[in-house]
Amino acid sequence: MKININDITAAPKQLSYGEEVGELNERLGRGVRDFQVATMRVDVEYYRAGLDLFFQGAVHGDVVGNCARCLEEYPFRVDGRFTRVLTPRVAAATGGGQLSADVRELSTYAGEDVDLTPLVYDEAILALPTRALCAEGCRGLCTRCGANLNEGACGCAQPAAATPHLRAK
Ligand SMILES: [Zn+2]
Ligand SMILES: [Zn+2]
Repeated sequence: MKININDITAAPKQLSYGEEVGELNERLGRGVRDFQVATMRVDVEYYRAGLDLFFQGAVHGDVVGNCARCLEEYPFRVDGRFTRVLTPRVAAATGGGQLSADVRELSTYAGEDVDLTPLVYDEAILALPTRALCAEGCRGLCTRCGANLNEGACGCAQPAAATPHLRAK
């Protein structure tokens, strides 16, 4: 979602919209975390103070996770809040900092409009859990027969390793 910088005034404005998730899912697909975002809504308030542009709001995503233990897909919702201040890129560049290209991209603006999409993607990724688990207590799959143990015990005998034994050396 792009906002023309001439529309960003000292008087705060509100915007609610549905963000495209295609590129976000491509990014997520390249990572190790197994999530796909179905839909994302963004509520944002924006205004300017001098040359600085302020954005604050929330991202709400409907996400499908792929459980790392039982491999089942499970839907959940993420909500993240964000506040960003963007400074003009030229001023930031002369600031002398050794900012990486990514950081500069996310903290400065240049040109006619501000693209909210990278900021919103960033927040959505930060809001995701570190591991995809359908539930904290997910029992996973039986290592012998592959049955989903959340659906009940399988017929396999309890593996010996599950019972701690003290063994003399
Ligand atoms: Zn699971
Ligand atoms: Zn089993």
